[in-house]
Amino acid sequence: MLFAGIDIGSRSAKAVIMRDDTILSSAICDTGPESIKTSYKVIEQALSSAGLSLDDIDYTVATGYGRVLVPFANENISEISCHARGINWYFPSVRTILDMGGQDCKAISCDGNGKVTNFVMNDKCAGGTGRFFEMIAEVLNVPLTEIGNLSLKAKTVTPFNTICAVFAKSEAIAYLKKGTPKSNILAGLHRAVAARSFDLLKRVSLEKDFSITGGIAKNRGMVAKLTEMAGLEPLLCEDPQIIGALGASIFARERFQGGTLENTKVQYGYTDGTGNYFITIDTGKCNGCGKCVQVCPAEVFVLAENANGQPKAMIKETARKQLPLLCPGFQSCNENHEANCHTVCSEEAISHSW
Ligand code: SF4
Ligand code: SF4
Repeated sequence: MLFAGIDIGSRSAKAVIMRDDTILSSAICDTGPESIKTSYKVIEQALSSAGLSLDDIDYTVATGYGRVLVPFANENISEISCHARGINWYFPSVRTILDMGGQDCKAISCDGNGKVTNFVMNDKCAGGTGRFFEMIAEVLNVPLTEIGNLSLKAKTVTPFNTICAVFAKSEAIAYLKKGTPKSNILAGLHRAVAARSFDLLKRVSLEKDFSITGGIAKNRGMVAKLTEMAGLEPLLCEDPQIIGALGASIFARERFQGGTLENTKVQYGYTDGTGNYFITIDTGKCNGCGKCVQVCPAEVFVLAENANGQPKAMIKETARKQLPLLCPGFQSCNENHEANCHTVCSEEAISHSW
């Protein structure tokens, strides 16, 4: 059986093709202005490396911020769940993951089955993300792929008071004008980002076996600073950038075979760098009673049969990207309506997060 996972991130798109539990191929390309075109481009690259076509694939799961826009995906699942599942495939002992993506940074705790037990995200700013490093590389006129290596050559570490993209850029320009070597500036910025990422890790409690995923995990300077700060060597896979797509591909197999996805928290919502809002449904707890469908004034829920023919609550595809507009949040919903999804869900399968 053949499965595909596709991760449409804010800066890059990734795809992984698996035959059962073996990776056949993967591909990475830049995310273009049109997510649908990007999704076809990256999957076709991965399929062509494996000598396959889209028709050969039995089930596809999409993840990443553009996951709702992948027309050929059978299902989409949050990147948090996918990163945990993907890293578990490589390193079952890992319990803490730092996912450093193009537009956000997340610390994730997971159990031995790769199931998410806790997570925190960075603030709603670009500081410490792929976009931040792109901006710094541009300001310093150093290729993005070289900034980490150059930071390791620093004689001293230039202090930075902030990693706010705007202020850090001004500070970097001021240091450049004073003649500070680029390596020292980069070492300072890497240290500042590592410190903030380490704070995120501490918030989910850092376990001994931890890993870094996402494009920034390829930056040796960043990995070195985090290793120093954490006092622990992270476990790194060959290509940490494809871990979300790998997790999606593993979910595709489990979904197709009617397996453990039944116990997955499926997160619906949208994050675009300006903010995020999610409704999460724990499919393991949902008994398919349909009460949330009946009470929700915004009509965002729908019941759908899973692979085993059991009814489960989902968020309508048409509502997913508009959730912040449609749902005022359960507290204000509570004030204005007699019942809401939380009050009627006896299984406590629904949660909201911002
Ligand atoms: S109310 Fe709760 S248990 Fe019932 S369908 Fe909705 S999510 Fe599932
Ligand atoms: S809080 Fe209210 S509007 Fe929002 S999903 Fe629940 S029932 Fe619907």
